Amino acid sequence: MTFLDDVRQELCAAEVRSCCRSWEIRGFLDAWGQADARRLRVHAHSAAVARRLYTLLSEAGLRRVTVTRRPRSGFFVLAHVGDLRTWPPSGWPRRRCCRRSYARGLFLARGFLNSTRHGYHWEVKTPSETLAETARRALESMGIKGARTGRWQKGWVAYLKDAGLIADWLGQVGAHGSLLGFENARVTKDMRNKVNRRVNYETANLARTVAAALRQKENIRLIERTTGLDDLPPGLRDLAKARLAQPLASLAELAESLDTPLSKSGASHRMRRIMARAEQIRREHARRGQVAGGQTRQEQFRPEAPS
Ligand SMILES: [Zn+2]
Repeated sequence: MTFLDDVRQELCAAEVRSCCRSWEIRGFLDAWGQADARRLRVHAHSAAVARRLYTLLSEAGLRRVTVTRRPRSGFFVLAHVGDLRTWPPSGWPRRRCCRRSYARGLFLARGFLNSTRHGYHWEVKTPSETLAETARRALESMGIKGARTGRWQKGWVAYLKDAGLIADWLGQVGAHGSLLGFENARVTKDMRNKVNRRVNYETANLARTVAAALRQKENIRLIERTTGLDDLPPGLRDLAKARLAQPLASLAELAESLDTPLSKSGASHRMRRIMARAEQIRREHARRGQVAGGQTRQEQFRPEAPS
């Protein structure tokens, strides 16, 4: 069973007050039904929804309620209005409980809900723009602001994308069990996203540190092979030797490992000077290589392959 199935099943079993009954039916009718002064006909996509409608219509006092099944199109529930005077109810539900029931009817008739890796989606499809707007207004009257309407193939749709608003809706229409599952999944998903972001950040950071460390080692080896490390001032020389001894350590770790530990910014400053010295050597040798016209001298200073 999908999450949507769970929600539908729970809504089909939700308690209905007598004041709310006709409003839930009106929700079904608006989303996927037809009515005239004598009778009404409502579509139901599953047996559970058809049973719910059958019960609601019978309890509301409608006559000769029947359910028929069509092979590919689902169930149709038919009922005769009989001597009920004002049917179906018109206007707008005054009570909040009735508005929630109206919203439940709309959803049971043509609602869809899912939660994926990419986000959350709640919607009710309607045949007209006016009804999509009515569905949006129904949510707004329940304090759920932020629903939108739009085109959907030949019809219209009212939809919500915000997980917090969807959770609010689940609670108000009576899907309390589904709400718990939804909130648990949401917390897990948020946590997983946070962990993934953190891991990505740290992986990128680590890659940057390693690349920088290898570049530093390569430059220090160049100095060692040409002018020799003793050519460097003592402070730079100690740091250069520490780098050769610990090729993958971070700069902060190197700074701490020195006989006279340095701050990270102090180490960074000295490392920049070492790098500048290596660049200077490289330029000088490139220039001399050009004068000599030989490739061989430059070959000698080709960067060392990372080990
Ligand atoms: Zn009510």
